Amino acid sequence: MQENCIVIRELEDQYNLENSFLAPYATRNRGSRGRRVPELEHPFRTDFQRDRDRILHSRAFRRLEYKTQVFLNDAGDHYRTRLTHTIEVAAIARTIARSLQLNEDLTETIALAHDLGHTPFGHAGERALARIMKPFGGFDHNMQALKIVDELEIKYPEYDGLNLSWDVRSGLIKHRTDEQGNRVSLDGELLPVSPSLEAQIADVADDLTYYGHDVDDGIDSGLITLEMLSEIRIWNLAAEQAEKRGLQRQGERFAAYTVRCLIDIMVGNVIRTSAEALRKADLKSPEEVFAHSEHLISFSPDFIELTNELRDFLYHNLYFHPLMGSLNEMSYKRMKKLFDHYMIHPYEMGDTARKRIQTIGLEQAVSDYIAGMTDRFASREYRRITEVSEV
Ligand code: MG
Repeated sequence: MQENCIVIRELEDQYNLENSFLAPYATRNRGSRGRRVPELEHPFRTDFQRDRDRILHSRAFRRLEYKTQVFLNDAGDHYRTRLTHTIEVAAIARTIARSLQLNEDLTETIALAHDLGHTPFGHAGERALARIMKPFGGFDHNMQALKIVDELEIKYPEYDGLNLSWDVRSGLIKHRTDEQGNRVSLDGELLPVSPSLEAQIADVADDLTYYGHDVDDGIDSGLITLEMLSEIRIWNLAAEQAEKRGLQRQGERFAAYTVRCLIDIMVGNVIRTSAEALRKADLKSPEEVFAHSEHLISFSPDFIELTNELRDFLYHNLYFHPLMGSLNEMSYKRMKKLFDHYMIHPYEMGDTARKRIQTIGLEQAVSDYIAGMTDRFASREYRRITEVSEV
């Protein structure tokens, strides 16, 4: 009889396993550019696994639950929040990474962190904060996500931030050139021309996930109807699949299943198109990906056209719907009130923000504090402040 043996997969086994199924151009833990503060290895978890767990256990990640994606956070229980959006992006990103033999752990980590920098009240909140902060250096949610993982999470004895690996941190910088067209740096060094394939996946997965779920939430809200969608070509491709399964073009089940098909069609297109692009590019290493001027993870040209049509439709009928206009106004009013208030009463901010005033200046400290708020906390603070000032 065989001896009862329980085999523990040690770190070295994890790295060997990684080598056995990753493509040559995939990012490997062993090839990572490392952390700002060097750390001892963990006995069971690779660097990217640890990075993922650090994000999952961060306060900023937990706050995503109470932040608006498109519909205000308390508008309805079925609408996506930043948290459920993020989880959907991570799942889709994993599927794409696994199919293309790329590093799932790294892809998932970037996906889980990609929206950490979002303000309360969704894009309306971000526009409001960007407007307020314009004279003081502006505001951008991508750079804010990096600031959160690099500085604002306070947990470890030796350093501020989560000390994530370079591969995750660089993956959070979506735009490689600034507004003047200059290459962006990280830790004083210019970033490579292109992000890793894992970061490219997280980026494309973000887009296609919100195309899918915003249609879903839009239908749910009544702002988008099936009749309006019947003008949209990619929706019709998905609807044809639903019809093949015996559904009529009406009702909740049809809508839900067609959204499912829509996402599936987009994911399939990205996987097939990217596989072909990777085959043609014939890259031998992650360094060759960095130097390759074009993004290799993408939709096919005809799908870029189809998804642009869908995106324009969403902009027109959802994001810039007159009902959303009042959200913009409300967000600006609340954000401005909060900003002006803390500028005069900085001692009312949380500990971390207060302590940073000395080093980064009052405006930045206030901006970081407000950007980190959930919708409900920002609204509560707004009420508290306006009630006080009305007395
Ligand atoms: Mg997103």
